[in-house]
Amino acid sequence: MFIERRINPTTKAVELWHCKWENQMGEAPKKIYLGCIGEEKPLFSSDEKVAEKEPAICWSYGRTLGNIAVFSPDLIGKFPATSGNDAVLPCEFVNAGKFRHGAERWWCRTHQTHWGTKGDQAALNQFGDMRCANHQQLMHYVVSPFTINLNELAEVGIWCSMPAALSTDEIKPRAPKIHVHVRNQVGGKKSVDRDFQAISLLYGDHSGLFKNQEITRVNITPPSAFEFVCNLENNLKMSCVSCSNCGYPHLDLGDFGRTPHKKHFCGNCGRDSTWSNGPIISTPLQPLHDQYAGNFEYWTPDRELNLDSYPGSSYTVWASTPAVLWTSKRPQERGIHVHVRRDGERIIDDTFGRVILKGTELKREELIQMMIKRSIS
Ligand SMILES: [Zn+2]
Ligand SMILES: [Zn+2]
Ligand SMILES: [Zn+2]
Ligand SMILES: [Zn+2]
Repeated sequence: MFIERRINPTTKAVELWHCKWENQMGEAPKKIYLGCIGEEKPLFSSDEKVAEKEPAICWSYGRTLGNIAVFSPDLIGKFPATSGNDAVLPCEFVNAGKFRHGAERWWCRTHQTHWGTKGDQAALNQFGDMRCANHQQLMHYVVSPFTINLNELAEVGIWCSMPAALSTDEIKPRAPKIHVHVRNQVGGKKSVDRDFQAISLLYGDHSGLFKNQEITRVNITPPSAFEFVCNLENNLKMSCVSCSNCGYPHLDLGDFGRTPHKKHFCGNCGRDSTWSNGPIISTPLQPLHDQYAGNFEYWTPDRELNLDSYPGSSYTVWASTPAVLWTSKRPQERGIHVHVRRDGERIIDDTFGRVILKGTELKREELIQMMIKRSIS
């Protein structure tokens, strides 16, 4: 048996059909279509199709690639709740050319792996549908994510929120989250100040942010925000290349998200024909960060705190981290954020330039490494 692509005359969708050759004595071999096993997806979902349905973001950890700029309308309705970490999502196959030995292959965009090996074919014969090797991988997801329209808001700040560096209380390791501040007026009160699992950003298509003009939305997932901040902090070269085959902005994650490299493997179409001019880590968050930055400067407040002067109080300490997105004209604050509690009441909640603990000055760089180590990614 083998698989053939076939255009459905009614829906115009590309379908994948199980076929076999039938050999009748004295006749030319005849191709028999045994049954449709699935649809091959276009490389981009059209906007109207997406707008009809509730958007969703899904991601998983321990991957080297990911989708960030678009999402598929076909995934909607398959989530067990409005958010969680246990979704089993259907495979989405796009055509990915051929294996080196010549067999056709497909790329599963949901689980980021190729399909078409002998094992895959055997599973197809057994279960009757195309499933990639990673199809049971549980995914994190958010349905109807909090969405920010960058062109409508005066000031937006987005950070990767991580566990604290030091505390008198237990610090539990956890996955990073997305912390958001929104001000509707410059310097006004914050209308949003909280953590989210993942968020979606909309921007005008006039910005030319990505080669593919159809993309006007970037999803910020915890792994992408986490790697971006670690790389900013470690001064690693980041940029954003678009796939030479499908034009999709490339997101490096995992080892690739931490090591600059030249040859990039596309998470949208499964091809590795994209080369950057020099070794880089590619992330769509870089052009977004640069284009919407209101101010690239940092300032360190000249406030000082000596935690030794608060015996018997409890405290928690974080290093401030560079923002993923900072649209304010003010410089970003860089320092050490401290909460001090006495008798259950928070008596200090501020960012300091110098913090003393047990007679020594805390180093922001060391604190941030502790926070990174406690982040589950
Ligand atoms: Zn899959
Ligand atoms: Zn591609
Ligand atoms: Zn890459
Ligand atoms: Zn605080």
